[in-house]
Amino acid sequence: MAQRLPDWLTIRVPRPDTIKQVEGMMRGKNLHTVCESARCPNLAECWSKKTATFMILGNTCTRSCGFCAIKVGRGEQLDPDEPENVAETTEKLGLKHIVVTSVTRDDLKDQGSDQFNKTIAAIHRRLPDVIVEVLTPDFKADRACITNVCDAHPEIYNHNVETVERLHTIVRPQAKYERSLQVLKMVKEIDPTIYTKSGMMLGLGETQEEVIRVLKDLRKNDVDALTIGQYLRPTMKHLPVVEYIQPKIFKEYEKIGEDLGFAFVASGPFVRSSYNAIAFSEKVMKERLDRMEQPDAAATQA
Ligand code: SF4
Repeated sequence: MAQRLPDWLTIRVPRPDTIKQVEGMMRGKNLHTVCESARCPNLAECWSKKTATFMILGNTCTRSCGFCAIKVGRGEQLDPDEPENVAETTEKLGLKHIVVTSVTRDDLKDQGSDQFNKTIAAIHRRLPDVIVEVLTPDFKADRACITNVCDAHPEIYNHNVETVERLHTIVRPQAKYERSLQVLKMVKEIDPTIYTKSGMMLGLGETQEEVIRVLKDLRKNDVDALTIGQYLRPTMKHLPVVEYIQPKIFKEYEKIGEDLGFAFVASGPFVRSSYNAIAFSEKVMKERLDRMEQPDAAATQA
């Protein structure tokens, strides 16, 4: 079990005053960001790059993953104003890339997919040029729920596999590795113009062979973008860190990912699902513009 934080994980993170203003605005709209609840080390950097991650469907998850600090229990009442509030706050903050994520709501018939649909639609209606990335639960690979989200045309559909297959029973006991791959594959079947993305954490006891197998499995399911970061233990109640992975190993995985054909790879100790999301969305925006300017060329490329 890894003890002291290594040097590369001990940088002091600046928290400019602007963050307090943004937090105030969020609370005013009863909105929550994963950036804050996960005390993400990249918050200042992402918010200064006009990206943020909103969490919808409440603060209480119906699952209990061993790495996650989110409250577990009965899901909360849905807020019908949430979709419009997210869109309005996105506009007020001048965000260019917005990530909409959520807890898992196994307690709801549509598993929360309707609220995703409404939130994406509200943002697109108000801000047609903003890139919407959704980071969804697995919806138990229910095609109707995934179609419900895709029907609102998010530009990027993200669903994390989180770890290697062998460690799923301890890291995400209510999820399944193959089922998460199925979700990502289904999105491409439902709408091939949506970019798919997935991510994983390292340092939970996986081997390098197992990590490379995950990268190959994701590419086999046409996943376009990948994030790889270091697992950090939120509290003593959560899974211990088995290993702090050296930055050079993250660089090696980045190279392997690019060689496997991912259009975008972010791999590093501080990388999180939405880290540097704007870099990928700039690529998405460029390709979208190309598609609009030369629909025929785009059609022949697709
Ligand atoms: S399903 Fe998501 S929000 Fe729920 S405990 Fe797992 S990681 Fe956390």
